[in-house]
Amino acid sequence: MSVTESMLDFTNPDNLLSKGLTDKEARRKLEKHGPNLLSERKRISPIKILFEQFTDLMVIILMISTVISGFMGEMTEAITIIAIIVVNAIMGFVQEYRTERTMEALKSLAAPYAKVIRNEQQASIPAEDIVPGDVIVLETGDRIAADAAILECNSLHIDESLLTGESLPVEKHQLKNKNVLMDPFDKKSSVYMGTVVTGGRAKAVVYATGMKTEMGSIADMIQNIEDDETPLQKRLGHLGKFIAVGCLIICAIVSFTGIIRGEKLFNMLLSGISLAVAAVPEGLPAIVTISLALGVQRMLKRNALIRKLPAVETLGCASVICSDKTGTLTENKMTVRKMYASGYRLDITGNGYNLEGNFLVDNKPTDPVRVDGIRLALEIGALCNNSVISHPVPEHTTVGKIKSIFSKQESFKISGDPTEIALTIAAAKAGINETYLKRSYKRIDEIPFDSERKCMSIICKNNCGELLVFTKGAPDVIIDKCSRILSSRGVIKLDELTRRSIIKLNDTMANDALRVIGVAYRKLETGKYNPGKTNIENELIFVGLMGMIDPPRKEAVEAVRKCRLAGIKPVMITGDHKLTATAIAKELNIYSMGDQVLTGRELDVMNEAQLEKIADSVSVYARVSPKHKLMIVRALKKTGHIVAMTGDGVNDAPAVKEADIGVSMGITGTDVTKEASSMILLDDNFATIIAAVEEGRVIYNNIRKFIRYMLACNLGEVLTMFLGMLLWLPIPLMPIQILWVNLVTDGLPAIALGLDPPENDIMFRRPRGAHDSIFSHGLLKLIIARGIFIGLSTLGIFVTVMYFVNNVELARTAAFMTLVLTQLVHVFECKSETRNIFEIDIFNNMPLVLAIICSLAMILAVVYIPSLQGIFETVPLGLNEWMLIAGFSLMGPVLSSLIGINRKNKYC
Ligand code: ADP
Ligand code: MG
Repeated sequence: MSVTESMLDFTNPDNLLSKGLTDKEARRKLEKHGPNLLSERKRISPIKILFEQFTDLMVIILMISTVISGFMGEMTEAITIIAIIVVNAIMGFVQEYRTERTMEALKSLAAPYAKVIRNEQQASIPAEDIVPGDVIVLETGDRIAADAAILECNSLHIDESLLTGESLPVEKHQLKNKNVLMDPFDKKSSVYMGTVVTGGRAKAVVYATGMKTEMGSIADMIQNIEDDETPLQKRLGHLGKFIAVGCLIICAIVSFTGIIRGEKLFNMLLSGISLAVAAVPEGLPAIVTISLALGVQRMLKRNALIRKLPAVETLGCASVICSDKTGTLTENKMTVRKMYASGYRLDITGNGYNLEGNFLVDNKPTDPVRVDGIRLALEIGALCNNSVISHPVPEHTTVGKIKSIFSKQESFKISGDPTEIALTIAAAKAGINETYLKRSYKRIDEIPFDSERKCMSIICKNNCGELLVFTKGAPDVIIDKCSRILSSRGVIKLDELTRRSIIKLNDTMANDALRVIGVAYRKLETGKYNPGKTNIENELIFVGLMGMIDPPRKEAVEAVRKCRLAGIKPVMITGDHKLTATAIAKELNIYSMGDQVLTGRELDVMNEAQLEKIADSVSVYARVSPKHKLMIVRALKKTGHIVAMTGDGVNDAPAVKEADIGVSMGITGTDVTKEASSMILLDDNFATIIAAVEEGRVIYNNIRKFIRYMLACNLGEVLTMFLGMLLWLPIPLMPIQILWVNLVTDGLPAIALGLDPPENDIMFRRPRGAHDSIFSHGLLKLIIARGIFIGLSTLGIFVTVMYFVNNVELARTAAFMTLVLTQLVHVFECKSETRNIFEIDIFNNMPLVLAIICSLAMILAVVYIPSLQGIFETVPLGLNEWMLIAGFSLMGPVLSSLIGINRKNKYC
């Protein structure tokens, strides 16, 4: 490992630790060392995208034959055809370029962030802005952003398997001599980019970034948004090829028949190729990608950040949403409301993070610190705690005094885990503040909270030099570790009766939807503490219970209702107590009579097959650990569900990965879980999942809409030419006309359909099957029927005009107009599969209306502007032709609404 010269940049690590770099220094260093990236992010150049538009084989052939035909005769026609091809290519370019840029912007949003100390404050910055000399803050679940030397740490464990292949986490310690940073670091006090913190916390100073890191030297594995093609994109890719081949065969037949009939060889070739260019839906993949990308943007506006594009599609199929309770269904703003210690039951008043509040016993205010047990309970809650209130609370005082002080103070900066913040605030309400606690106890070590153990401990030394263990956690867990209790008569043995009464009390609190935390302590009689060696979380002395409310999110109730209407089952998964969970699930309507509630213990004695059998009737899983989540996902998937599963902690990552739609939390989520997820909830909110599902359904529906439109129209075009040839008619459309039809009908209207607003009933349908084809539920029939109809109408008009007027140019112009108008009318029909054109609001998609007006203007221009008539071989249409055309164009929608073809397709 090379110790870079940047190590010389800092000399006083202790100072650095608290202050970090300033923005100015960081900027200078960023210029010097470059961004903290493993490889340059490659940008696709616009030139390349533009160039690609012309490299399509068909387009090349068309251009060559146009040029040749130009030399052989019609120069203006050839130039116009080239112009049409160029315009087509430019439209393709704009679409693709925009899609690229959008995707790029989305990717950079999903890029990792890192916690650093900058300008004396902790901040979260994009990991690529980290520079040597930055102090990074590491916590459980973080992916380390750069190589760094540990200045300060607390039972730090790192998973370095990515670098070393060693699957067990390694323990790290801080630098022995912080002032000798020039030492080639011993590996035990360095952390490396790309590895993951599996436990503990640390502050470390970065000494290498980007390609200078260990990771940079071995590989360029970057964790980034994956731009996998979605299943739909893949399937459409295949479909596109299939259609292309079919079209080519038909076009060949068209040209060939014409040649046999004695048409000019070159003209027929040109017709065939133009038809191929028009009929092959080469724009389809680009339009699908655009609508996915735009959908992703809309989801982002609603706080759902998509990490993996396929999730956009899968979201629409979700049939079960398993959600964490705390923070996702609830607000995660906790307030201690009830407390039990030393035989007293106290109510605590005050709201949220406000420091004002009273302790009431039997509705009478009391000074809680006068009773030893109560004071100790509050102290343990505040000590065994990592939350921070930035304004120090004044000295240990009486309640009355505190109130007067705090009513003046307005804002506090509070950070940390809400459960712990609540405990800090409760203690502060009693006047137990940080300064006081720091003076009385010195923290020696911490055994961090872990959702598997469901408790946390710290080891402290008090002023008398005694070693004390303070533990807090789920009451059922705590009480199992206690052998004594601090009662009003002092420390006594915890007998079975008392144990039961405490559990009963806990249940009462939990039934009121309170999240309950138990607190306990013990003295280390030996006076010695060996970190990690002895189990110190036993033989504890029970002190008390703290019950905190965590109100359900207001939006969650509505979101759950929507979720049910949409045929999706909401399931609550929580580490919290069964009764607390059930109480909140009832408020949210996730739990209804007859549902089952399963606990982690019950899951432990079940196998997956047993769970599968009952999974459908379970709506709440309580006191579960992350490993149970994996079991739940698997069981649900086995029963045929498409499962969305939320997660935040490191241990949740496997379940999140296993789910069909892994959802992680933007605010409380760890890097590892975010990386495993396909969607991040920026606001940690359950309602956001439902919003994303809705968008997912809208996108899929809109893709179906323009596929229906494009394929029906292209089929119509091909059939017109094909049948015309088979029936030995003159060529119904000239090559340039075919190309114009393609330009006018394919591009803008199809994209605009992709922007269609949601249909009203989109969230009242059942989720679609994950393996449904894009043509399922009769869409293919609709497409074919309409394609045939368009083809026959066009040909019918052609034949009729030929028969009555015997003017092939007039007949062609009429056919040309019919072909375009039937398509432009059909666009509006494609807006809904369940309602006919007379039942929908055709004006609710302004881009579509504008696109249609634009297309109309373009088609009328080539028929009525004299200078264009020559090029497009058109002639003005008379009233008779117009009436025929109007009749045929409107017949489609009228027929299909009469037959009621649409009705049958209420598929969802
Ligand atoms: P969830 O996030 O689903 O509510 P957790 O796994 O975070 O569940 O918590 C499980 C239980 O562990 C909680 O019911 C609570 O009793 C306890 N607990 C939660 N946070 C802490 C903490 N910071 N310290 C100690 N115990 C905690
Ligand atoms: Mg939690």
